[in-house]
Amino acid sequence: MENFRYVRPGSIEEACRLLREHGERARPLAGGQSLLILMKSGVVRPEVVISLRGLAGLRAIREADGGLALGATAIHASVAASSLVRARAPLLAEAAAQIGSPAIRQMGTIGGSLSQADPAADLPPALLCLDARLAVAKAGAIRELPVAEFLRGYYETAMDPDELLTEIRLPALAGGSGSAFLKLRRQATDMATVCVAALVVLDAQGVCREARIGVGAASAAAYRATEAEVVLRGTRLGAAELEEAGRLAQQRAEPATDHRGGAEYKRAMVRVLTARALAQATERARGTGR
Ligand SMILES: Cc1cc2nc3c(=O)[nH]c(=O)nc-3n(C[C@H](O)[C@H](O)[C@H](O)COP(=O)(O)OP(=O)(O)OC[C@H]3O[C@@H](n4cnc5c(N)ncnc54)[C@H](O)[C@@H]3O)c2cc1C
Repeated sequence: MENFRYVRPGSIEEACRLLREHGERARPLAGGQSLLILMKSGVVRPEVVISLRGLAGLRAIREADGGLALGATAIHASVAASSLVRARAPLLAEAAAQIGSPAIRQMGTIGGSLSQADPAADLPPALLCLDARLAVAKAGAIRELPVAEFLRGYYETAMDPDELLTEIRLPALAGGSGSAFLKLRRQATDMATVCVAALVVLDAQGVCREARIGVGAASAAAYRATEAEVVLRGTRLGAAELEEAGRLAQQRAEPATDHRGGAEYKRAMVRVLTARALAQATERARGTGR
């Protein structure tokens, strides 16, 4: 690994100032689960590493406007275990619990995962379904953007090099909602071959008012299968509708063949996991599933 300067700012303002001062020569360090691997292999050679560990409040998970606000350096283990997240955004807790191994979940952070923008990451499909908005700081100013705009493509985000992701904001869920996150992987601690998040909202008669489907590891960035969502609205989410939704979600998939599976296999798994995740989300919304 190349030599680098390690700095530990005491505030978000100071971190932003350092980022502005050093531009592309600097990198924020959150859990280091991706950054340190890239530095060790020489893919990334920052001259200045800006640790986010000392930033007060950036790890907090709190209620906000009836929904939730998660600090960017909240670790995956905290997100998975938080009673607030489990009550208000169970889909996010379920996805976070399936990341890597316990050791990875103790170090990796929600903000680091989003900033890394790995197309196979587990949190983006869940956050897409939850309509997350991300707060990004730059030289004292904060802008907020939807997660779908933040995730631009293959390891690419909408952040400039002098910007810092500070908070992930989730609106309150509607009553009558149920959700599920399903991940296909080759072995227990692997990244997803394909993963799907589903969220449905039922009315008092059990009719689908809204359906959201987030698909990961099947494209350059996680995506919402909007065509599939449309066909589910107004239905009772029967087997035929879920099958059709799976087929439509698959149509959007453009996976690459890699060590985790062939493109055709991944496309087929998008169809299967979408139908299964929707079925599980529906059972939970009806109060009949776990
Ligand atoms: C063996 C292994 C298995 C894994 N398995 C999974 C898995 O199954 N599912 C999954 O989703 N992920 C998995 N991961 C990824 C891991 O969970 C982390 O989410 C990911 O590595 C990045 O988070 P981090 O906090 O470690 O970020 P870091 O490695 O510290 O940073 C990653 C990148 O984001 C930038 N960055 C970090 N925080 C910010 C911020 N707040 N603002 C702006 N830029 C920022 C850094 O500069 C760097 O470029 C795995 C990782 C490893 C090593």
